This record gives sequence, C-alpha cells and structure tokens, in this order.
Amino acid sequence: MADEFEISLKNRIKGFVTTLHRKWTGAGRSLPRFKIKNSNWLDLNFNIFGEIENIRVLQPSTSSGRGRPKKLFSESSERSKKRKIKHLAPGSTTSEMRNRTSCLNIFSAYDHVLNAKKECYPKNIRITETSCQVPLQDLLDHTIIRILKIPNIKMPENIVDNIELLCKWGCDGSSDHSQYKQTFNESSSLTTTDYDVFMFSVVPLQLHFTDEGGGNHILWKNPRYSSTRFCRPIKFDFIKETVKSTQEGVEAVKSEIINLHPTIYLRGIEEVKIKHTMIFSMIDGKVANSVTQTSSQTCFICGCTPKDMNKFDNMDKYPVKPETFSYGLSTLHAYIRFLECILHISYRLDFQT
Ligand SMILES: [Zn+2]
Repeated sequence: MADEFEISLKNRIKGFVTTLHRKWTGAGRSLPRFKIKNSNWLDLNFNIFGEIENIRVLQPSTSSGRGRPKKLFSESSERSKKRKIKHLAPGSTTSEMRNRTSCLNIFSAYDHVLNAKKECYPKNIRITETSCQVPLQDLLDHTIIRILKIPNIKMPENIVDNIELLCKWGCDGSSDHSQYKQTFNESSSLTTTDYDVFMFSVVPLQLHFTDEGGGNHILWKNPRYSSTRFCRPIKFDFIKETVKSTQEGVEAVKSEIINLHPTIYLRGIEEVKIKHTMIFSMIDGKVANSVTQTSSQTCFICGCTPKDMNKFDNMDKYPVKPETFSYGLSTLHAYIRFLECILHISYRLDFQT
C-alpha cells in the first residue's frame, strides 16, 4: 500500500525544487539578482512537514479495512517518526542524525558530523605500521569528558574530589588473520606479520562519588558492561600472544596506571578532580597463566598441579595468592568429568519408553 505521507512529502520537495529552478534561471543564475528579485519569497518559511502533518490518511469505513489506523506524523512516537523519515537519508544510521531530523526537520551539515566524529577520538594517538596506541591518561581523560556530556548526568555542586571512575581492563590475542602480500617498511619487517594481533582495552564501569557522610552515589553506570560497544582500545600490535609479550604488555600498562593522575574537569572556574581505579580482570585463562607464570595445567591461585588435584586432604595446605582473585575462578578444581559416572550408569539401564 502506498504511503500517503511519503507521496505528499515527495510532491512537496519536487514542487520546491521546480520553483527554485524557475526562479534561479529567471534571475540569470546570478546570486545577487536572485536575492533582489525573490526577497519576499526567500523570507517565507519552508516547513517541509508543516502541512503534510495535517493530512489524515483515509480510513476504510467497511470491513475491508485491515491493520491499525495510521497516525499523523506529529502524533507518532519517536520511534515511528524515525522510521517514517529513515528513507530520506539513506546510509545515515546514526541515531544522532535521525534524532536531529525528527526534532528540527533538517539534516545536520556534513562538516558538523565530521567535527562530532573528531570529538570521539582521544588525543595523542600514536600509529605505526605495526601498532596503534593511545596513552592511558589521554584515553581516560577523554572517557570522562564524554561521559559528562551525557545530558542527564548532574555533577554534584559541592563535591570537587572523591569522584572516581571505575574501569576494568585486560588483553587478549587473536590469530589466524589473513596475510596480505604487503611488505612492512620498518626495520623489524622481516619478523613482522599481520597474522597475529594482540590488543589491550579498557571498559568504563561506573562513575561515582562519596559525599561528606560517606554515602556512595552513582553518577553513571555502564548499561552493558560486557558489551564490546563500551570497549575502548588502549593499544593493538601485530605480535603473537606469548608469555613474554603478555607480561611485557601488562607491565607497560601497569606502569601507566601507577603514573595516572586524576582527570581535571573544569566546572566554571572550579576544578573537579576525578580519580581512576583500574581493575585487571578482563582476561582469559591463557593470559592468567602467562601473568602468574603458571602452566595451563596448574591452578594459578594456589599452584596445585594435576598430580595433587585429587588429594582433597591436602587441599587446604596450598598457599592462596589473594592478588590472583581478580583473574576469576580456577576451574581446575571443579571435577568437570564427574557426570561421567552418571553417564556410565545410564548406559546399563534399559531404554525407558
Ligand atoms: Zn587452586
């Protein structure tokens, strides 16, 4: 069924373009003459949705009418408005652009879109042929500034410190990437390959502050803390994930964390300090083994080996390293094959019908 709204809108734009073309050629394609000749016309307000909003789609009066009655553009929900004008800007799927169009009935200038995109990048990104990284301080400063731009976040009036950004960070390697026959120019080019990528990232979890009474207040909370959408890359390299590269990379980030200073946010002339707490927890078993220098068969929490894993009487004698608790549970102690016993019993039973 043809959409009344779409047809009306198309006709309206077509009419406008035709008039504009007639007036433009009438003025001999000269901008000053065009302005003088059409000053009254130019003062008019061209509201593209104006009258169309009032066109009510005719409802069939008999039982042949099916489906829900159509609403006016102005009566539609935000979601329906976005859907109705979606085809006007093919390819522009950013919610910002669609929101703007639904509120103001205009499209943003492309320059503004580019500038908004530039603001999404932190400062001092260093890119080489085989790696890309950003100083952790710059990344966290940028993260905080972007979070504070969210309209419903209200910075507390009287608090200038005791504000904290809680983040988790970690690393992982990925291999088996396509290798392209492009040579690397750098001196280490003979050993460099784009087969492996090793990357570090950080995820902001919560921005909160403590008031004078010691109460904890959350300013912003990550709505999807396991989503890659909130993953902010610290660095990535074309190197293989090995024990050595993991340890070196983790040490480098840890030294950056030690040297972090609070982000200073200017509220008028007042300086608000926001400190950072980084939790190294976003890792898998391989990284945990590399960092704790244990083999994958050894428990990284207590150092128990497979040989002693079933000696339950000795289990409490192994010294526990509390600093490894953030790496998660060591699944080696869970006897994952214990269901085999039940399986073997079930083999001997008759089929139940
Ligand atoms: Zn253990």
